[in-house]
Amino acid sequence: MTTGRVTLVGGGPGAVDLLTVRAWRALQAADVVVADRLGPVEILAELPPHVRVVDVGKEPGRHPVPQERINELIVEHALAGAHVVRLKGGDPFVLGRGGEEVLACVAAGVPVEVVPGITSAVAVPGLAGIPLTHRGVTTGFHVVSGHCAAGPAADTSGPLDEAALSCVRFGTATLVVLMGVRSLGAIVAQCLAAGADPGTPVAMVENGSTPEQRVTRARLDQAADVAAARGVRSPAVVVIGHVAAAGLLEGTSERRLAGAGV
Ligand code: SAH
Repeated sequence: MTTGRVTLVGGGPGAVDLLTVRAWRALQAADVVVADRLGPVEILAELPPHVRVVDVGKEPGRHPVPQERINELIVEHALAGAHVVRLKGGDPFVLGRGGEEVLACVAAGVPVEVVPGITSAVAVPGLAGIPLTHRGVTTGFHVVSGHCAAGPAADTSGPLDEAALSCVRFGTATLVVLMGVRSLGAIVAQCLAAGADPGTPVAMVENGSTPEQRVTRARLDQAADVAAARGVRSPAVVVIGHVAAAGLLEGTSERRLAGAGV
């Protein structure tokens, strides 16, 4: 039997109409779809009837399918001749372990292509009316994982590395934290200990692009308490910096004069 292939598809933050046309076409042409919990899961019910769906989604409280097993699954199906679509939330290469899946395919001699997706890191703040860069406020943003010990440079004193901390301390760039709900207290403590302004605005956006989307705002020094009181839960994108201030895009003349150079 001829070898199949794998298409690694970024599905965007969740709303089906935030899938790209290329992602949609790949899904329609699939034999097998290996799907996550995050991303546009509703699309799975609309696939052609012959498409086999393998759910490797990480439901809270259920043991997740280990990454190594996911890698094996996509390779096995492709070696059996299938066109496998690996449907992932957001963009496959933004804290999505897509690189590992590509390497697994390459190692097995399976052709693999990537369809970029709309990453939650940018889209979820955007849907909540938070411009990650805003002229006159900041010219850059930095995206990090809130998971402790995320990489070789991770500092044991907290989830943020020096580059992320300096964004908040000096206000040089907006900090965007994915997977940061559980470690929010540690992140706040780390920023304050590094000398960040306690009044720095923070926004937490849960379930972006879905009917359950909710935005919670707080000062940096109150963010963990406010999140606990409101019951903020994963998945959420945490934005730290002046672009997260309430009312930034409400168009008052002071804001326009100060922020947008109008
Ligand atoms: N590759 C994905 C990120 C995977 S990491 C991307 O590019 O978007 C998973 C984290 O992404 C979650 O913990 C959360 O921080 C964020 N996330 C993904 N979808 C989200 C959504 N719809 N609303 C809020 N946060 C989301």
